[in-house]
Amino acid sequence: MSEPPKIVRAHCNECGHETRHDVVMERVHRESELIDPYSGIAVHWATTHTMLECRGCEEVIFRRVEWCSEADPMDSGEVTYFPPRVSRRRPGWFEKLPSEYSSLFSEIYSALHADSRSLAMMGLRTLIDVFMSRKLQDSPRFEEGLKQLVAQNYITTRSLEVIKAAVEAGHAAAHRAHKPSPDQLEAVMDIVENLIQHDLLTESAASLRKSIPPRPPRAAKPNTSEKQE
Ligand SMILES: [Zn+2]
Repeated sequence: MSEPPKIVRAHCNECGHETRHDVVMERVHRESELIDPYSGIAVHWATTHTMLECRGCEEVIFRRVEWCSEADPMDSGEVTYFPPRVSRRRPGWFEKLPSEYSSLFSEIYSALHADSRSLAMMGLRTLIDVFMSRKLQDSPRFEEGLKQLVAQNYITTRSLEVIKAAVEAGHAAAHRAHKPSPDQLEAVMDIVENLIQHDLLTESAASLRKSIPPRPPRAAKPNTSEKQE
């Protein structure tokens, strides 16, 4: 009788949440080193590579688990996924972004996936700076620029407070063991994505206006009241 399929739970990027995955194939490499030949104490480590397939959407991913006998016994090993698991999906308009936004955005998503929240927040701050340099004149300081964004209706007063709190938490990370909370970061991601999407929509509206040929002038009606010379 064949063995029942081995199933594990893992986050699926396509489905956007944790799903059941079939273990398609698995390879385990084990090694050890004798530390003390008299007592026979040795250090053991193992690397397990697993190919997984989502039972919902059939996306195939690779998982690597590195385990060492010297680590915390409660720790089942360091897990890495290829490609990385994403907690937040890129918006549909991502591909249309100008390069000055897109490369920075990619790095922010990578930082988010690695749970590097302070780095992600620094990246978001830089994105707001880029937006300011595109939209505001005489490149103001960050705080002043935020006020101008509110004055010009790019962001609301509430968004201004959220950004300020998250930027402050990002700064604090350099000095104290503190980083923006996942909720704080999500809120700023929402604001910045809206901001950039707004920029994208205005740009495409402007280029659309340029590409539409002007309406031909209406044929002038013969004016009978004017005297002919
Ligand atoms: Zn899936």
